[in-house]
Amino acid sequence: MFGIIVYMREAKMQYAWIDGSMRAVRAAPEIAELGRAVHTYLANTRSARHPVEVGEDLRQLRHLQDLLELDFSRRAAEYAATDQAEREGSATVQDWIRHECRMSATAADAAVCAGQQAANLHLSERAVDRGDIGFGHFVLMARTARALADSPSGQPFDEAPLLRQAIAHSVGRFRHDCAHARHAADAKGVLAEHVADVEARYLELRSGEGGAWFLRGFLDSVGGATLRTALEPLARFSGADDTRSRSRRLADALVELSAHALDTGAIPSTHSVRTHLQLTACAETLAGTPGAPAGGLEHAGPIPAATVQRLACDAGITRVLLDAKQAPLDVSRERRLPGVSTRRALQARDRGCVWPGCERPVSWTSAHHIVHWAHGGKTELNNLVLICHRHHWMVHEGGWQLARTQDGTVIKLPPAPDRQPTARAPDGAAA
Ligand SMILES: [Zn+2]
Ligand SMILES: [Zn+2]
Repeated sequence: MFGIIVYMREAKMQYAWIDGSMRAVRAAPEIAELGRAVHTYLANTRSARHPVEVGEDLRQLRHLQDLLELDFSRRAAEYAATDQAEREGSATVQDWIRHECRMSATAADAAVCAGQQAANLHLSERAVDRGDIGFGHFVLMARTARALADSPSGQPFDEAPLLRQAIAHSVGRFRHDCAHARHAADAKGVLAEHVADVEARYLELRSGEGGAWFLRGFLDSVGGATLRTALEPLARFSGADDTRSRSRRLADALVELSAHALDTGAIPSTHSVRTHLQLTACAETLAGTPGAPAGGLEHAGPIPAATVQRLACDAGITRVLLDAKQAPLDVSRERRLPGVSTRRALQARDRGCVWPGCERPVSWTSAHHIVHWAHGGKTELNNLVLICHRHHWMVHEGGWQLARTQDGTVIKLPPAPDRQPTARAPDGAAA
């Protein structure tokens, strides 16, 4: 029994008061012997092996590692039964293992749980011994046993039927088997956990430098699956020239989904006014005149003229004339949206985004003015094309140009070298 009070470190040796005398802390002799065997094994020159033999080496090595994992977990449970970790200043045994054994929090908890449940898992221990299941299976089994034991509504854990599934299935599939078994034995407990996860949902939107936003959050399994299912189809590569990373495509998909919900009026209205982005800009900004101030967008702050032009490209515009003291003189509605018949003809002609290779359907596009109406372009069929959110962005902010050839085909022209977009890392200081 340890009765430690003081620790001293000298070279790598630890000393502690053990049963009344100061002694060097050493690993058990059998572990020292194992260490020598491992070092001899690692020092041996490896002979050339046929790939089939390498496969067998991997199987055997993994089995030995599984046996050691199981032994580690038994010792972890033995340690957890004492208050030694707390005496050494750790909040929990898992925390002590995480730090002292250089493991992840999940792996440390898996070890303690597997060791503590081993008494209820004799059949599974023997299955690991024989190599019928891996330590990964054993941990899932232990977690299921622990969840049922800890739940006031849980039925007693039944090892045998679950072990049969563990022997037959991969660790990934066995995770689902365990979830089903747990639900069958404790539907109330599983529901309570799900409800707790939904209650724990959160989404933080924090503003950073230059009007940018940082997102952080947590979603329960169903909420997360709903978001993922909605984003995945929008986050696919669009066209052969799409070089965006997966995370960039998911972020673009989230913005596009939100814009689409606003454009289609799917967001509940407030005071009978459809929820929309409030954009303000002077005529010079809209026309892209050099020296003009930036535009203004609610929740974003100042935004570039190119963005003003995109947002105004297919939008109902309210013109507000201001006097010298910025007081409104006159408010009038301007018609920049294609009329019903023009839009129908446009939809029938373009049948979706016109960007070569893009497959966004009509309902996910806007009408882009090839010559912007702020530059005198007409809101007529021959000056309009349907374009999706991303490609509309590439035209206005990204510097690409769309042109229609004599035969009506739409071609895209890349931006001049000085307009190639450059990615910047989010500002860490504002994170
Ligand atoms: Zn446009
Ligand atoms: Zn497109």
